[in-house]
Amino acid sequence: MTETLFKLPEIPTVPVQGETAGYPVGRIFCVGRNYAAHAAEMGVEVDRESPFYFTKSPANMVLTGAQVPYPQGTENFHYEMELALAIGAPLFNASPEQARAAIYGYGCALDMTRRDLQIRERQKQRPWDLGKDVENGTVLGPLTRTADWGGPTGQRIFLTVNSETRQDATLDELIWSVEEILCHLSGYYHLRPGDLILTGTPAGVGPVLGGDTIGGGIDGLAPISLTLTAPD
Ligand code: MN
Repeated sequence: MTETLFKLPEIPTVPVQGETAGYPVGRIFCVGRNYAAHAAEMGVEVDRESPFYFTKSPANMVLTGAQVPYPQGTENFHYEMELALAIGAPLFNASPEQARAAIYGYGCALDMTRRDLQIRERQKQRPWDLGKDVENGTVLGPLTRTADWGGPTGQRIFLTVNSETRQDATLDELIWSVEEILCHLSGYYHLRPGDLILTGTPAGVGPVLGGDTIGGGIDGLAPISLTLTAPD
């Protein structure tokens, strides 16, 4: 091991149901506009040619149950409830069968978003980083191994704010299936264990404030929660 000048924070890990060891997170890819009703509420068309992506830094990830301050630089901080999948084997130019076999497990995730900055960046044709790669802005619940859950079919995906339902959809509304996403994305990256992919959010996104508690779930997976506190 090469000596380093200083220490970086440890690689974040996600608990796995039924395992004592955690799943270390190397990269986080996110799919944009993967539910038609959400694309419509954002005022944009779904691109049916191919999926598109943005990334979020693992360093900005927190686990379910976290209490985090309302972030700087936004007046419109939004929740997005998503199905996350975790890669368990190397994948490059994958076939659908290879893609399916490489999915280690699934979990609930929140893709927290500075919506005002995302929209401003979009209008200026700039990248979305300030809107999307927010400190403490990716929340993960415990993973469930593929063998213990199966995969997305018609399960319910939902989110509450202070116990009031805000998002309520089913996973058969996904435009790009998990196999299609992995076949496409593995044409650009050598996917590997440690890669998480957030598969997009259904309709019903909206703002939260300091003091709010977000809860989310997908049938058969461990639920997720996040509490916002006053800004730092
Ligand atoms: Mn999202």
